[in-house]
Amino acid sequence: MRAIVIAVGSELLNQERLDTNSLYISRRLREKGILTDMKMVVGDNREYLSWVVRQACKRAQIVITTGGLGPTADDLTREAVAEALRKEMIFREEIVAIIRERFRLMGMAMPETNTRQGFVIEGAEVLPNPVGTAPGLFLDTEPCRVLLLPGPPAELQPMFDAVLEARIGPLSRFHVCSAVMRIAGLSESEADARLTAALGRIANLDVTILASPGLIEIRLMGRSRKDMAEAEEAVTIAADRVRNEFARHLVTEKEESFAAAMLGRLRERDLTLAVAESCTGGKLADCLTDVPGSSRSFLGGVVAYDDALKRDFLGVSQETLTRFGAVSAETAAEMARGIRKRTGADIAVSITGIAGPGGATPQKPVGLVYFHLHTADGDVGQRRLMTGDRGVIKIRSVHYALDMIREYLDGRA
Ligand code: ATP
Repeated sequence: MRAIVIAVGSELLNQERLDTNSLYISRRLREKGILTDMKMVVGDNREYLSWVVRQACKRAQIVITTGGLGPTADDLTREAVAEALRKEMIFREEIVAIIRERFRLMGMAMPETNTRQGFVIEGAEVLPNPVGTAPGLFLDTEPCRVLLLPGPPAELQPMFDAVLEARIGPLSRFHVCSAVMRIAGLSESEADARLTAALGRIANLDVTILASPGLIEIRLMGRSRKDMAEAEEAVTIAADRVRNEFARHLVTEKEESFAAAMLGRLRERDLTLAVAESCTGGKLADCLTDVPGSSRSFLGGVVAYDDALKRDFLGVSQETLTRFGAVSAETAAEMARGIRKRTGADIAVSITGIAGPGGATPQKPVGLVYFHLHTADGDVGQRRLMTGDRGVIKIRSVHYALDMIREYLDGRA
């Protein structure tokens, strides 16, 4: 079973907006054993859209469009798909009644333009939109099913999940099960080479490896035409091999961020954390506080960007700053000690470096970052030369600091 996803909207053709809907859709389809063969972005152009949908329907068993279902004149998806499938548009007053009621509940009168949303393609099932006004449409035609969904991700995602369970998932001839494993402390190429060697050949298994700065995700997917047990067996064998190979690097086996995984481990051990950041500008604290319930383990931190703050708030000595500089192992160590003293946290982590593009010297290039972890058990300092632009260096540094916490908790720091 093959799918083609078509994202509709001129704003998606340039930098204004990224097409994230198709990523969501193809990921969810994959979980059901349905592969996306092609993704396209088409501007608000009825002629092009209709042509693209017609071609897609000749190739794929499922064609999904997102966007262009709104009430305005540039929302052309319904008409373009009807044209591609040579179907009529039919007006359904009850759809307009629902939209009118939604407006009434918000204390507003429905603008006349919304009446357009009452037109549907003949033979289409109307999919309710619990969040917005634009209903989705599902055409269960042979040989190709066509699904039209609205553009806003908050509307699309619950609607797609519902139709996936009820209509599309059951069409898949595969039983699918999947697992995710996230690892850190390795380059993508090293992880890839080791993964390939460790897994060997496993029947009914698909593997993808996805690297982001400082964190690598391994997705294992078992697919079987026979039964679920066969799919699960493939994943179980693969997961065991990954665990053995990457025991020293495993961050989590859940769909959770690096920060969430570390906070979980801190909570299990009843340990608290505080951070002192310079070049990451609070990104580490931000990632930690993105996790609901983080306050149970994360006490807080400081962005000590200026030398004076490093000195006056964290207690980094003027001599250290003058002699070694703000970006140095010595300053990192004193920052970590300072924040632990101030907060009373069990674990203190500091980051100081040069995120670039300016600020480098021959001795201290862009990407040079010092980390320090300080606990009652002792100290660990690290020096890293990171690659990438400012944003990449910052997020890589955050992941590196989290990895130091992981190593400490694993008893290896
Ligand atoms: P509405 O009734 O809200 O207008 P619609 O189906 O007409 O629904 P669009 O007008 O095409 O949707 O898009 C509305 C907004 O949804 C866009 O401004 C954009 O923010 C977001 N959006 C649209 N398509 C995508 C996409 N493929 N990926 C991510 N966001 C998208």
